[in-house]
Amino acid sequence: MADDSVREIRINPIVPSESVLVATARGMRPRKQEEVVARDTREHVESCPFCKGNEDKTPATIAAFPNEKDWCIRIVENLFPILGDDSEAAAINFGLQQVISGYGRHEVIIDHHQHGISVYEMSEEHLQMLFAAYRQRMMELYESDSRLKYALVFKNFGPAAGASIPHTHSQIIAMPVVPENVINEVEHSRMYYRKHNHCVFCSLIDEALTYEATIYDRQSGEVRRKINVGQYVIERGERFVAIKPFASRYEWEVHIMPLVHASDFSNVTDEDLQDLSQVLKRTMKRLEHVIGGAQYNFFLHSIPRAEEYSDCKDSYHWHLEICPRTSIPTGFELGSGLFVSTISPEDAAQQLRDVNID
Ligand SMILES: [Zn+2]
Ligand SMILES: [Zn+2]
Ligand SMILES: [Zn+2]
Repeated sequence: MADDSVREIRINPIVPSESVLVATARGMRPRKQEEVVARDTREHVESCPFCKGNEDKTPATIAAFPNEKDWCIRIVENLFPILGDDSEAAAINFGLQQVISGYGRHEVIIDHHQHGISVYEMSEEHLQMLFAAYRQRMMELYESDSRLKYALVFKNFGPAAGASIPHTHSQIIAMPVVPENVINEVEHSRMYYRKHNHCVFCSLIDEALTYEATIYDRQSGEVRRKINVGQYVIERGERFVAIKPFASRYEWEVHIMPLVHASDFSNVTDEDLQDLSQVLKRTMKRLEHVIGGAQYNFFLHSIPRAEEYSDCKDSYHWHLEICPRTSIPTGFELGSGLFVSTISPEDAAQQLRDVNID
């Protein structure tokens, strides 16, 4: 194995200012393992505010699917919103210290009526309904206020991933600013598009599905290593593909993207969602087999509604980032922004692909 060990800095092809050090030599274990949490698999918990029958313990229902009485999915206002209604006092901006009022909406989506069900255990029909709920709420929030520039849908599982209530849930935050990591993706992919007249995400999908990459020695020009990039594909549906990124901060990070270019998640069709549900369920099953019980986040990245990005429809490609928290970032990583991966993305992809889930 020693001969196969990799030590290289990989540049994120979408956001070149982000890079990851892949160092797989034995003994390279700079990170402390993140705790695996025992999954609370109970179906119903009497004291849980998100369980059926306890609807009066949460703020009022914003939306419920398929209906309020027999709901499987329920959206409510967050009890402790990080953004809220306009504050009366206008922010005073002085010099370099600019403030934008913390206006926005913060809602909780109770993913499933069963308390401890995991995403990989949910039926495809249910996942389809869940993503349709995200789509509907995202559109309603954008329509409700033109100052909202970004609606982020995300899910936390486990305390390290930020989940404070064990009942399966996700969140949607609509805010007056675009988060920096999304700005980076949107702006870099726009630059790529201007240069190559092609979407960088589409290029990555094409590459993952067809090519073999060769790494040359910069000085001698000799071939150092060949990578079969086709091996980055974890799951493939009719309309979606799950890919292990070539350079990613989290060792088991997987991205799910539509195969045909699309910038805006809110335009997905029900047929798209049907295929997405299948690819997501199968991907989560694979992750469960390989890193079972790991805490994780997923983030839905779609084109911002901000005017300044209205020309990014051809260059930005929406996607779902699944980020398992298997180890704790070190001070070096947080301070330098250079994340270390002790498993090569190729190995991780192989392990995920090798799982027999059928
Ligand atoms: Zn519950
Ligand atoms: Zn694209
Ligand atoms: Zn992203």
